[in-house]
Amino acid sequence: MIQALSPSINGNGVFRDDAHATRKTLVRPTFLPFALPDTDETEIEAMVATVRSGWITTGPRTRQFEQEFAQYVGAKHAIAVNSCTAALHLSLEAIGLTSEDEVITTPYTFAATTEVIRYFGARPVLVDVCPDDFNMNPALLEAAITPKTRAIIPVHIAGLAANLDEIHRIATEHGLYVIEDAAHAFPAKYKGRMIGRASNQVQPSFVCFSFYATKTITTGEGGMICTDDDRLAERCRIMALHGISKDAWKRYTAEGSWYYEIVAPGYKYNMTDIAASMGLAQLTKAEKMWRRRCAIAARYNQAFGALAELQTPYDRQDSQHAWHLYMLRLHQAQLTIDRAQFIEKLKQLNIGTSVHFIPLHLHPYYSQTYGYKPLDFPVAYREYQREISLPIYSKMSDEDVEDVIQGVLEIIEQCKTA
Ligand SMILES: *Cc1c(COP(=O)(O)O)cnc(C)c1O
Repeated sequence: MIQALSPSINGNGVFRDDAHATRKTLVRPTFLPFALPDTDETEIEAMVATVRSGWITTGPRTRQFEQEFAQYVGAKHAIAVNSCTAALHLSLEAIGLTSEDEVITTPYTFAATTEVIRYFGARPVLVDVCPDDFNMNPALLEAAITPKTRAIIPVHIAGLAANLDEIHRIATEHGLYVIEDAAHAFPAKYKGRMIGRASNQVQPSFVCFSFYATKTITTGEGGMICTDDDRLAERCRIMALHGISKDAWKRYTAEGSWYYEIVAPGYKYNMTDIAASMGLAQLTKAEKMWRRRCAIAARYNQAFGALAELQTPYDRQDSQHAWHLYMLRLHQAQLTIDRAQFIEKLKQLNIGTSVHFIPLHLHPYYSQTYGYKPLDFPVAYREYQREISLPIYSKMSDEDVEDVIQGVLEIIEQCKTA
């Protein structure tokens, strides 16, 4: 049975009542991808202009993107790199991480967050997440800290900030760096402060963003390191481009010089001007794209909020959710099918979904290296098994959103126990 459609959800009037009126079957004629970048002629023209300019790799566009991004989030320094993984790696390099050290993060994240710790031979120490928002549980932090601990990497899952007050308080008390994995968290706020803007914590910290193709703004591949610490920013900048002492990218300009000095064996993590010109165009749309995602989240919440079979994502009044992901959860006891079957049924309706995340401790590398068992992190393990991420991106039409809602409602109607 298909429920009656609700009228449009708010003053924005984003959803039409008749979004579904012309469709005769539940199955979409075309597959709805889980994620799509929101690009148009603006990005294309910006990139073409960069190519025409003759300067296609790191240069003036990258510097402009760094400045505008820094201004947007309120950071003193923003260093553009070619991925968030590179941003996390460079942050750990800048604090001088060694193979003797430990870094605390959570199992509820993507491969990148812990692989960068392993690049140094250091040990990732995992703490479980909160059941409401999938973010690091600060109550478990103190017990995980040892004399070897150097840093904490909280991940702002889905775009909702982790408990930064508590994490920074504990970090400061123990002299630890905080490196925020903000791959999902643009544009997001924690208690009125943009993610990326430094708080007045004692320890310097980093915030790392991703511009991967599926993220809230994209450069195809790309990332940004934000920090207010001059020395750490300089180290990241140097190591992002071969460990060359100063403005390596300028050596082919009129004001540059052929002379340079290698001060450390650096990496090749610089962002290209082609990518940066796309980033600049995306930045001007970030707010509009975010508003659209908020409207989609509100529409989903309205459609699913009252159902006993579903748990809608947690949100907080004092923070701004970036709504990079819409992490729906199933109440398994109310359903005759499991999460995998639910996903399969949505796929048959031509609706793409995803799962965020398969906790790291379940993956062969981490379970074999550290001997983790699934129930070592019971909250991550339990919540993972009932999570489905629904499509939420600004390119979705009203019809796309209604297709997802009708698909989910139909499956529940078929497969509910009561
Ligand atoms: C996407 C993602 C990353 C990695 O970003 P890249 O830009 O692809 O390197 C890191 N952490 C989380 C939580 C992510 O979702």
